[in-house]
Amino acid sequence: DPPVEKYEYQAEVSRLMDLIVNSLYSNKEVFLRELISNASDALDKLRFLSVTDQGLLKDAVDLDIRIQTDKDNGIITITDSGIGMTRQELIDCLGTIAQSGTAKFLKSLKESKDAGADSNLIGQFGVGFYSAFLVSDRVVVSTKSPKSDKQYLWEGEANSSAYTIREETDPQNLIPRGTRLTLYLKRDDKGFAHPERIEKLVKNYSQFVSFPIYTWQEKGFTKEVEVDEDSDDSTKAEQDDKIEKKKKTKKVVEKYWDWELTNETQPIWLRNPKEVTTEEYNEFYKKTFNEYLEPLASSHFTTEGEVEFRSILYVPSVAPMGKDDIANPKTKNIRLYVKRVFISDDFDGELFPRYLSFVKGVVDSNDLPLNVSREILQESRIVRIMKKRLVRKAFDMILGISMSENRDDYEKFWENFGKHLKLGCIEDRENHKRLGPLLRFFSSQSEHEMISLDEYVENMKPDQKDIYYIASDSVTSAKNTPFLEILLEKDLEVLFLVDPIDEVAIQSLKSYKEKNFIDISKEDLDIGDKNEEKEKEMKQEFGETCNWIKQRLGDKVASVQISSRLSTSPCVLVSGRFGWSANMERLMKAQTV
Ligand code: ADP
Ligand code: MG
Repeated sequence: DPPVEKYEYQAEVSRLMDLIVNSLYSNKEVFLRELISNASDALDKLRFLSVTDQGLLKDAVDLDIRIQTDKDNGIITITDSGIGMTRQELIDCLGTIAQSGTAKFLKSLKESKDAGADSNLIGQFGVGFYSAFLVSDRVVVSTKSPKSDKQYLWEGEANSSAYTIREETDPQNLIPRGTRLTLYLKRDDKGFAHPERIEKLVKNYSQFVSFPIYTWQEKGFTKEVEVDEDSDDSTKAEQDDKIEKKKKTKKVVEKYWDWELTNETQPIWLRNPKEVTTEEYNEFYKKTFNEYLEPLASSHFTTEGEVEFRSILYVPSVAPMGKDDIANPKTKNIRLYVKRVFISDDFDGELFPRYLSFVKGVVDSNDLPLNVSREILQESRIVRIMKKRLVRKAFDMILGISMSENRDDYEKFWENFGKHLKLGCIEDRENHKRLGPLLRFFSSQSEHEMISLDEYVENMKPDQKDIYYIASDSVTSAKNTPFLEILLEKDLEVLFLVDPIDEVAIQSLKSYKEKNFIDISKEDLDIGDKNEEKEKEMKQEFGETCNWIKQRLGDKVASVQISSRLSTSPCVLVSGRFGWSANMERLMKAQTV
């Protein structure tokens, strides 16, 4: 037998392994994602090199990943037909850290000045392999590089500071090229060796790895078998008779095991948008997000330049149950991939502000590290740029719905997500310009169908400077408020803000297209018809009356004044210029109860 050589891990590796096992991944199952991504990297490297050196492929043309499970013994094997490792590479890659093989590969590519390096290979992530020890007591790596004519076995155990390397000599275990990882699962983690479990994990994490991933699955087919008649001592006549009769059969299920393709190799977002049909986008949406309704809109785009990523975004056609999820932005609505490997769908405002958390989609970046953590996401400049672009695209998509010929679409959108956009007015000053055109309100001239601010502006009188609104609890009470009288008489349109959040949203917005929002219930409403002479006269004539009323009411009112704003009602209660509107007062009261 060839000698078994023992090596100590570089000190940092032992520390790193402790770190990984104890804290880095709260989620054990990511080991599979890491190992598949290594297999995929190895295949990427081989694919790249084989472009110039066809000979590399000779013994094994198929580039794929195969995962086999032995649930009785708690063993998982992951085999790829990628670039493999030489003996020295085993030591360098699996025994030392900050020695990312991918990074080195890239560097050597640059050095050899090989033009046209595939940017898909970029990666600076150094911890992946050791995640195997999250679930394994023992890991065996059997690997064959095209650079070497020998195959080597690397073997390591959890909580050990050493590993061994020896030559693989068992002819049964020889592979033409590539790497086979064998994981001997910890007692409590043997459940990962169930074929269905693996299949599910592959589907979830690596569905869109661009090499085929096969899993070893039990299958069955039903076949009809003849039931044996009694022993054959029947007469010839009887036998003929039997043939006449229909033969007796029964159904049996034949079980067998076979490889099953478990992933889609070409992720839909990598395809040319011109070649993807709406049905395909919708299908992907439903499959990915477990939705049964079609989305209202989708948007498929690639950004280049400073930060490169691809994305497909969707606006759902209904808000999730409960509707009140605005406060909870952790919706699992955005699935982040790095180089096609699923990273996370657990975001809290990193990629979309909470008011847009209803937007669903996938984002695939080549510029983020594969082991990107929450902390990295929050601090990354790349992520900030991504967020900005994503938000912009989301607005474009919503604007698209609002301009659709089918008015129902936007009504549906507004009914489900209008509240979110109003929240946006309050929380996202930077996007006021994008939010404004999307808002909808009832008005004194449109009590049944909501209008946009653009429609309001179009309908303004030539000398009208401001946008008028009244906040109330319903269209009916808004319609009957005495404040409205004088504006109606002058045929000025007034927005009815009947949703509690409307008034705050409008106040945050302050203006639209340089026209200020004016609350018609406030003290000094100026609708551009001041007649100072007449007002003076009136004040003189009714000054005494006002004083008398103020005396009778005392502290209940701040002041009693002559007004020119009413036409048929004798009097009205108004708010001070800096006071709360009656509606706000109502809201504040409601909140303190
Ligand atoms: P990273 O993938 O970021 O480089 P890993 O810890 O996941 O870090 O892997 C370390 C190195 O081990 C890889 O860079 C690669 O050189 C090597 N390696 C791991 N798995 C494989 C594999 N299946 N085939 C070939 N090389 C591998
Ligand atoms: Mg890796």
